[in-house]
Amino acid sequence: MGPTATTSRQARGREATVLNGHQATGREATVLNGRQATVLIDGNNFYASCEAVVDPAVLGRPLVVLSNNDGCIVSRSAEARALGIPMGQPYFQVQRQLQRQGVLVRSSNYALYADMSQRLMTVLEEWVEALEIYSIDEAFGLLHRPAPASDGGGDLTAWGHALRRDVRRRLGLPVAVGIAPTKVLAKLANKWAKTAPPGGGGRPEVFDLGACPPAQAEAVLAATAIEDVWGIGRKLARWCRLRGCADARALRDLPTGELRHRCGVVGVRLQQELRGHACLPLELVPPAKRETCVSRSFSQPVTSLAQLKEAVATYTSRAAEKLRRQGQRAGALTVFVRSSPFNGTSFYANAATVRLSLASQDTAVLLAAALPLAEALFRPHKPLQKAGVVLQQLEEEALLQHHLLVPLPPEQQQRRSALLAAVDGLNRRYGSGTVQWAACGLARPWAMRRSQLSRAATTRLADIPVAWAGEQHVQPQTTAT
Ligand SMILES: [Mg+2]
Repeated sequence: MGPTATTSRQARGREATVLNGHQATGREATVLNGRQATVLIDGNNFYASCEAVVDPAVLGRPLVVLSNNDGCIVSRSAEARALGIPMGQPYFQVQRQLQRQGVLVRSSNYALYADMSQRLMTVLEEWVEALEIYSIDEAFGLLHRPAPASDGGGDLTAWGHALRRDVRRRLGLPVAVGIAPTKVLAKLANKWAKTAPPGGGGRPEVFDLGACPPAQAEAVLAATAIEDVWGIGRKLARWCRLRGCADARALRDLPTGELRHRCGVVGVRLQQELRGHACLPLELVPPAKRETCVSRSFSQPVTSLAQLKEAVATYTSRAAEKLRRQGQRAGALTVFVRSSPFNGTSFYANAATVRLSLASQDTAVLLAAALPLAEALFRPHKPLQKAGVVLQQLEEEALLQHHLLVPLPPEQQQRRSALLAAVDGLNRRYGSGTVQWAACGLARPWAMRRSQLSRAATTRLADIPVAWAGEQHVQPQTTAT
């Protein structure tokens, strides 16, 4: 993120106005083979695939990525899936088994995944008319179908394969592409792009639901379990099943009145989307954040106030950095702590909030507010397992509401902003923590466990892979990086 991210977000904002106008009047996309197509592009095994990008030695080998503190398995390569390793499994339960099976293990490297995600979105923006970033590895795109011709001229499958090849060539990442007239159907098409759709052979990686024969489209909807329809929660799925509506096709054909009675306009919209009528517009500008939270579990129980203050200072400075990147200031700050419910002592959880007299994004101001809260929350005989900092009452940084009794001279404000921008720039360029507040501590025995972390090969200069340019006559020190 940085200046470039802001620029592209601004650009997206401009598109949004145009596109939302189009969406409001654009009722042409009302049938399955309509002119407007929505695509959902989704990274396959995203975290595991990112690991393979920076370390080709893992290509073709089973690999799993663990959650924070090396807790559970959160991503598996195709080879690890084939071994039947389940998702979400606690690592300590399967550690031996993984060793026996020769499965490679990585701690989650969020700096790498976030950077690869940003690169992916930049590539995708070139391929569609408008893009909604839905998650770290998923994006919806909008484009117009070429005029349908009798020989299948409206089919976007070839376009989807070209996009996959481009992403693979530029980033080394595998993606699956689902194409359909609406978001709900695109999500569904994407699911079938990653499995074998009925009547379509093996796993196609690109599936255009809007261009397949009507009989196949019906079969695909009938084969999609109600729980797999985007937007259907567990409760609603149970209600549908009790009504004998077990798949996407049955939901589409349910009497609309009944659905409206049960779940209001949300359910009706979902049904309309299944019928091919687009009513969920793309969200091109991410809504402004109302809160920013940084919280982590400790690698070992924290029993001293000094360690708790270090942790709270670290989370506060991280949250302040996020705030500046989002272009916001916080008007209030909450610190929370909790012990482990399983450690035998009585459970302790507590939180404290402070209102700032002047909304701020300055790490020093936020630290001065957060550290006394950490002191107030600490109990000597309660070993803590987790702490967090939440910045609240966020407002646009441009709209600084001054306080009559707490004046902030403009020169001083500018100097602080310049200092913080310089610190953020250094940390972005040379890696997080290059310049940090002393309150954050150095040894950090409480910090998250990430024992099998890969390199930050795309975000830290020292970690950039070395390309060997010759044989004996080229010294390692002089080779190009
Ligand atoms: Mg994915």
